[in-house]
Amino acid sequence: MNRLANRTALVTGGSRGIGEAIVRRLAEEGANVAINYTSPGSFEKANALRQQVEEQFQIKAMVVKGNVGIKQEVDQMIDEVEKELGSVEILVNNAGINPFEPFLSLSEETWDKTYQTNVKSIFLTSQRVAKNMIQKKYGKIINITSTASTVVTSPVVPHYISSKAAAAHLTRALAIELGKYNINVNAVGPSTIATDMCEDYLADPEILEKEIEANPMKRLGTEKQIGDAAVFLASDEAMQVNGHLLMVDGGLTVKAAQPEDHMDHEAAIR
Ligand code: NAP
Repeated sequence: MNRLANRTALVTGGSRGIGEAIVRRLAEEGANVAINYTSPGSFEKANALRQQVEEQFQIKAMVVKGNVGIKQEVDQMIDEVEKELGSVEILVNNAGINPFEPFLSLSEETWDKTYQTNVKSIFLTSQRVAKNMIQKKYGKIINITSTASTVVTSPVVPHYISSKAAAAHLTRALAIELGKYNINVNAVGPSTIATDMCEDYLADPEILEKEIEANPMKRLGTEKQIGDAAVFLASDEAMQVNGHLLMVDGGLTVKAAQPEDHMDHEAAIR
């Protein structure tokens, strides 16, 4: 507890899903947190979360609007955060989209929007905060990528999985570039988590069962587990962790499909 006392954090897409859990965990550890949103419909959620974490953890929080894929909005958003909470010391690039459009009908617009939100955003926000982090000789940049960053989880959404692979490699490039200024740049790679992003997909009970069965831990991950990983990477305990992609996936990405996946293990032991 209080590992991040008085640090200033910005979580993009912080009003709901994984971002919300990251906001809660950073606040629990004492950080002052800026909660970014972009859809007008998310303002109320963001504001309610702001109130809750302020009261529960006695920290300062704020809500800040901005599309992370647009430079002018990113600059304005970070100006606002700096004015209210001070310069950003912990940046969590969580905002992301996964529009379901199979390859053969995938539009150019969807391709561009996916890369703008999932990859360009990391360039824009990181470049903007890095200048102050360099002056302070302190900074943590944490990018929420995916199991799709390392393996082809879902070939039907090549725009999404390739954007997440790009985000992971961008993490590594920035880690090398910024390490000399005591800025750690890392990523967290979740497997499937039941947020709005996966609502339609997991609504099919057969798919849900297969997702659980495919995971070596025989369960889905949770939003809080990603928050816990983000806290670790933001803490001094991870001081020498740089350019790392921390998979929080129950071992899914190290598992090769094996014939025994189809075996009844309990029967085999008996
Ligand atoms: P989610 O519930 O759909 O939430 C997406 C968040 O991203 C929302 O807060 C949304 O803000 C924000 N966002 C989208 N476009 C934005 C933009 N242009 N500017 C600012 N914010 C924007 O998704 P989630 O499951 O929590 O996912 C969070 C991150 O984890 C994503 O990067 C996703 O790719 C990654 N991830 C998720 C899973 C999973 O299974 N859920 C697995 C692996 C990785 P508004 O509410 O304002 O629209």
